[in-house]
Amino acid sequence: MMDSVSLKPLNTFAIDAKAKHVVTAHTEAELLILWRQATARKLPVLVLGGGSNVLFLENYAGTALLNRIKGIAVSEDADAWYVHAGAGELWDDLVNACLDLSIPGLENLALIPGYVGSAPIQNIGAYGVELQQFCEYVDVIQLETSVKRRLSAAECQFGYRESIFKHDLCEHYAIVAVGLRLTKSWRPVLHYGALTYLDTRRVTPRQIYDTVCAARRSKLPDPTLTGNAGSFFKNPVISAFETEHLLRCYPDVPHYIQPDGKVKLAAGWLIECCGLKGYQLDGAAVHDKQMLVLINTGKTSGSNIAALARYVRRQVADRFAIWLEPEVRFISAQGEVDAVEVIS
Ligand code: NAP
Repeated sequence: MMDSVSLKPLNTFAIDAKAKHVVTAHTEAELLILWRQATARKLPVLVLGGGSNVLFLENYAGTALLNRIKGIAVSEDADAWYVHAGAGELWDDLVNACLDLSIPGLENLALIPGYVGSAPIQNIGAYGVELQQFCEYVDVIQLETSVKRRLSAAECQFGYRESIFKHDLCEHYAIVAVGLRLTKSWRPVLHYGALTYLDTRRVTPRQIYDTVCAARRSKLPDPTLTGNAGSFFKNPVISAFETEHLLRCYPDVPHYIQPDGKVKLAAGWLIECCGLKGYQLDGAAVHDKQMLVLINTGKTSGSNIAALARYVRRQVADRFAIWLEPEVRFISAQGEVDAVEVIS
């Protein structure tokens, strides 16, 4: 344990905020011990995975507890494979481990930064697939009582980049493992972008994985080179009525009808339409290939990124009367704060 540690290597935005302490848990027992030691200091504790969906607005006045509980176990029956993965496994390593074992299903979720334990919080999704389609359960520990619980997928209350872990279970709980069910009646999901060019009858899961990786690499900034947290905003979902009105003014607006009749818009397109491609403010910038991504051009602060997000949100609202919501979670000195409030 060290005093006042830079969080720069621990968040993909590469914000050089500091925490009082950083400690690492490799087992559930260690996690509980470290949490008790940290709370005994009467300082806040933040359980952190890969820091790939957080923005540190300032120095964190407590302990960052890194969850690195590893382990992958696979079982099967006639219909499916069942994968139990420790929260501290890297998500992309899990996807690869499954493909190496000839277990398909996760290939569209290739190359998503972060750890397995973060995947259900965000209900990670990409290229037409979401974690909730495979998630059977999430194992959590209530840190104050040390009680371990297995939440069913229904109890996780998954939604679009949403889950109970962003709300009722966001404090004093740690995700320690995730259980996935991957069906043996695999069907490729090829209705997004570059995947539509693949041959449904011949394509292999590994080819889909490689195609997604190439698409991501061509468009998204590599967080090891340029600080970012992937999509900064959620894609807004509006009513059919609102869409009709929008299409009258902007006939080209990309829109995707959802199963419930609502319509999802591409936030990146709205931002680009406001002329914000590559727009910079105090070292924070709108990415020039995918406008939904905000980047740290070098040494900017979390509050500068938030200021840029506020500006972008205001521009989009002025033009389209749509208020974007951050997907990224904001962390202040004492812990998580309401991201919408911060950029309102
Ligand atoms: P894109 O192809 O430029 O499309 C822009 C947006 O339109 C996407 O975000 C996607 O929404 C939506 N979209 C595109 N094709 C669609 C279809 N056939 N049906 C329904 N919605 C469609 O997006 P991109 O930036 O290259 O990203 C590709 C995928 O990777 C997307 O699924 C995106 O969500 C995912 N991704 C996620 C993150 C993250 O941090 N969460 C970061 C990068 C990429 P959805 O976002 O709802 O899929």
